[in-house]
Amino acid sequence: GFNCGIVGLPNVGKSTLFNALTKSGIDAENFPFCTIEPNTGIVPMPDPRLDALAEIVKPERVVPTTMEFVDIAGLVAGASKGEGLGNQFLANIRETDAIAHVVRCFDDDNVIHVANQVDPRADIETINIELALADLDSVERGIQRLTRMAKGGDKEAVATKALLERIQPHVAEGLPLRSLGLEADELALVRGYGFLTLKPTMYIANVDETGFENNPHLEVVREIAAAENALVVAVCNKLESEIAELDDPEEKAMFLGELGMEEPGLDRVIRAGYALLGLQTYFTAGVKEVRAWTVKVGATAPQAAAVIHTDFEKGFIRAEVIGYDDFIHYKGEQGAKDAGKWRLEGKSYIVQDGDVMHFRFNV
Ligand code: GDP
Repeated sequence: GFNCGIVGLPNVGKSTLFNALTKSGIDAENFPFCTIEPNTGIVPMPDPRLDALAEIVKPERVVPTTMEFVDIAGLVAGASKGEGLGNQFLANIRETDAIAHVVRCFDDDNVIHVANQVDPRADIETINIELALADLDSVERGIQRLTRMAKGGDKEAVATKALLERIQPHVAEGLPLRSLGLEADELALVRGYGFLTLKPTMYIANVDETGFENNPHLEVVREIAAAENALVVAVCNKLESEIAELDDPEEKAMFLGELGMEEPGLDRVIRAGYALLGLQTYFTAGVKEVRAWTVKVGATAPQAAAVIHTDFEKGFIRAEVIGYDDFIHYKGEQGAKDAGKWRLEGKSYIVQDGDVMHFRFNV
């Protein structure tokens, strides 16, 4: 699976968001989630297409695909110097695929701010500097090691060292590597370094109920994100935790209606995490189970099969494929077949978002 680490200064609303996320079992039995560790939540990916498929296939169960969120509390100024268990937090971030950076964009005198005032630019810088300094540490250790190898005439070591020397002043200034504009071949050279500031990042602007519009704090976050190629999702975490408390779907729908919302803001957070990681969904639709599966955009049919079981990839013969729209329009597999919308695809087929697939394989 793929996961997204939630970071941010203390008291910006991280736990509130995380708790809402892990409580958001939209329909408890159909959308199961489990908590592996106290700080890890597996969250169902909201996808109305699953219900539409289930309506046609009438399976015994419906299983959504999931995103994992990890609450990485305690990142503070000085973390990169090992203060306040800083190294542990940085190590936790290193293990995540993407970063959700929560930024306080609400004014509330009852909630203490660590720097005594709400200032999204300063808050973002504080966190980004710690991450950049952690990267600086990796860069410097890399340069040291590569210097020895480069002396031995290792060409890749020479090239990588030159690149690290270009990266060094950027991260030393506390700037994220995302904004350096590295080319694909350069990214490949430094992939092994696991740089924190290269991880796909979204800013979660935690606003008040009334803070979605005309909110200068939110505008600041949008400006910073645009300059860095990062995403922004505005949510009111406090409201989300109230929405997540409602177990009854009707009650929840009513509450959302009163708020003028079509869906919980959390759904946008989860989808943004998905988009951030370049992920897409394909479906399997049998009478036992209608299920959503996650693959990278650009995955081939055998790679998609591997998500279900590695044997499916090893013994892959062909994939039976019906596009989602066709499956719905022709009311299922038979209808799609009759209309000539059922295809057999081979090993090089690139999976499309929403494909309804069935794999043929040798055991
Ligand atoms: P963390 O330290 O980043 O995990 O922050 P918490 O989630 O514990 O939140 C800190 C305080 O801010 C708590 O008292 C929350 O109730 C409050 N809080 C969180 N989100 C909001 C919000 O959107 N609006 C307001 N007014 N308070 C919030």
